[in-house]
Amino acid sequence: SPPRSSVIIIGAGISGVSAGKVLAENGIEDMVILEASDRIGGRIRKDNFGGVSVELGAGWIAGVGGKESNPVWELASQSGLRTCFSDYSNARYNIYDRSGKIYPSGVAADSYKKAVDLAIENLKSLEANLVGEVNEPPSSPKTPIELAIDFILHDFEMAEVEPISTFVDFGEREFLVADERGYEHLLYKMAENFLLTSEGKILDNRLKLNKVVRELQHSRNGVVVKTEDGCIYEANYVILSVSIGVLQSDLISFRPPLPRWKTEAIEKCDVMVYTKIFLNFPYKFWPCGPGKEFFIYAHERRGYYTFWQHMENAYPGSNILVVTLTNGESKRVEAQSDKETLEEAMGVLRDMFGPHIPNATDILVPRWWNNRFQRGSYSNYPIISDNQDVHDIKAPVGRIFFTGEHTSERFSGYVHGGYLAGIDTSNSLVEEMRKEKERKSESQTFL
Ligand code: FAD
Repeated sequence: SPPRSSVIIIGAGISGVSAGKVLAENGIEDMVILEASDRIGGRIRKDNFGGVSVELGAGWIAGVGGKESNPVWELASQSGLRTCFSDYSNARYNIYDRSGKIYPSGVAADSYKKAVDLAIENLKSLEANLVGEVNEPPSSPKTPIELAIDFILHDFEMAEVEPISTFVDFGEREFLVADERGYEHLLYKMAENFLLTSEGKILDNRLKLNKVVRELQHSRNGVVVKTEDGCIYEANYVILSVSIGVLQSDLISFRPPLPRWKTEAIEKCDVMVYTKIFLNFPYKFWPCGPGKEFFIYAHERRGYYTFWQHMENAYPGSNILVVTLTNGESKRVEAQSDKETLEEAMGVLRDMFGPHIPNATDILVPRWWNNRFQRGSYSNYPIISDNQDVHDIKAPVGRIFFTGEHTSERFSGYVHGGYLAGIDTSNSLVEEMRKEKERKSESQTFL
């Protein structure tokens, strides 16, 4: 039979790595980490593009400057990660229509305020309808500028509509990671604390890459884990850190199946798809300077290449633009060729900046939705949900403990959510192991 370890951690994203670190700190060294892909990091992932390092997944440290300190900001400071301050608030003054005109600031500010008021009203009526009061159906945005602002409010940050715990607890500022070593440098730093590493590479044979877990057989005595390549691993406990999208897919089967309360909670959580498309150009044709980092394209189709950012602040001298798509538009673009996407993006840029701008020389389109180890970008609990769903998603089933960004009550969807969830789950497991030991020694005394 295969060697048995105390704990198997499935997934080496930030939550799996922080979980491993806490186990090691508690003296639990005989762990195995099974990671499906060929690297650690999960949704924290850099790539080289246009001569610099770009973040395909998480890009910002969100929630900085408040009374409480964001633990990921602390990790970044300790390891000297290079970041730059991001200010979205000016984006509303850089809204282009399809003929390339910028909406006058008065019009933009007005539309913005209206959109916020409308969103607040809609939220209130949603809440009222939940308690049985019948309200007017929520009204919806119609004109291109209304649609663009609605997209920014709802698919990015809703802080103006409803308080978001990340900003309430840690502050309202956001910093873009702009470091050649990537956001993932934080994970390597963390791994160094408990895994054998040399020159930035992990050499520890407890970390097993390219191990796609397909089956978890669990009983009162332990868990047997089967991988796609036919390997079998056994442990007393499992920490499962795969994304909510993977839990909703059929990648991993459970024997016996997960109980109903668990699968129902997993189904209820929405998966957000968020895609940053990178474009490289021979030279800059967009405005730079203060207040110009973000700009918006207003189109009659909601979310059609709406949100743009230039990389001049992060990497001066680079000629890179980033456009962000979400959900339906993300899925549509993932399904088409990059050449088609490039043509669409160029059409939008020519609307904004005129027919004579140069073609992009390179494009990078991440595909988080079609990645079977991700199945989306992050969890998105319905605005009005009690904490029961996240509680159920997090609750252990026998010897299987759950972690990951989606198990964080206050910070789901964020890097710090994943980080804190890993710590939290490991602490619960350590406590459970202590109790198990106590039970065993009690029954031995009894014998
Ligand atoms: P993951 O990183 O997904 O780790 C899970 C691991 O499990 C992965 O490595 C995966 O390969 C592995 N796995 C999956 N299936 C199996 C299997 N069957 N067997 C073995 N291993 C498996 N957060 C922010 O704070 N700021 C941002 O700016 C931000 N922007 C984002 C932008 C994008 C495009 C995306 C995708 C995410 C963004 N996030 C952001 C969210 C943040 O990246 C995540 O919340 C966080 O990284 C999740 O970490 P995790 O450990 O929970 O999951």
